[in-house]
Amino acid sequence: MAARRFLLLAAALTGVALAHYAAPLPLSAVAPAKAQFGLPFAGPPGPDTWMLGQGYGNTTGAYRQRRSTYGNLQGIHAGLDFSAPCGTPVRAIGDGVVAEVDGPHGSPPHNVVVDHAGNLSSLYGHLRVRSSVRVGQRVTRGQVIGESGDSQGTCVSAPHLHLELRDRSHQRFLNPLPFIAADWNSLALAGSFGRGYEYDLERPRRWQTPDSQPDARRGGPLLNEYRRPWPPAAGGAR
Ligand SMILES: [Zn+2]
Repeated sequence: MAARRFLLLAAALTGVALAHYAAPLPLSAVAPAKAQFGLPFAGPPGPDTWMLGQGYGNTTGAYRQRRSTYGNLQGIHAGLDFSAPCGTPVRAIGDGVVAEVDGPHGSPPHNVVVDHAGNLSSLYGHLRVRSSVRVGQRVTRGQVIGESGDSQGTCVSAPHLHLELRDRSHQRFLNPLPFIAADWNSLALAGSFGRGYEYDLERPRRWQTPDSQPDARRGGPLLNEYRRPWPPAAGGAR
């Protein structure tokens, strides 16, 4: 009896593990980028509303934490950060179905995942409180699905929304820029991020613009283990 219970438990845990570490969908199964989504906020950007914070990809911040926070994401910041006061309404970027509320796919304390057509999923992270939407609920583009929060929980230190675009297996992370209709150049200029990408001095032009950032795979090798990084790694190049 105990053995049978153990087997059931093992099977259940394996199922969870498989769901979390499924093979990524082939790129051919994922809808191509054609600005099919909108921004996660209504109204114009600004210092009192929302602004682009950290970009997607090979950012200096992700480089510094490439072996810790971002070690399982090939060392890159796998989403876009939007600075916003806590409590700013967060909106679905496209029509879809709520797949997870506070699910296992990161960005605590609260998060929502919406599945969209074309095997795409959007994740809204660091929400202040648990969202009132339910798993299985249909949502439409622009519908409020939560309130922005702070990754450090203070609403003062780092209030922002972390937005990711993934394939539906949650194994492949896509640069959201070409999928979201917005004036990204102006947003990048106005935001606090600046250029903000880590240089590989042996290939100094690679991954230095918002729209040239690499896709990433969960568990893949680090993309930014540079021999000659700039800014240099704390304590030397290693
Ligand atoms: Zn982020």
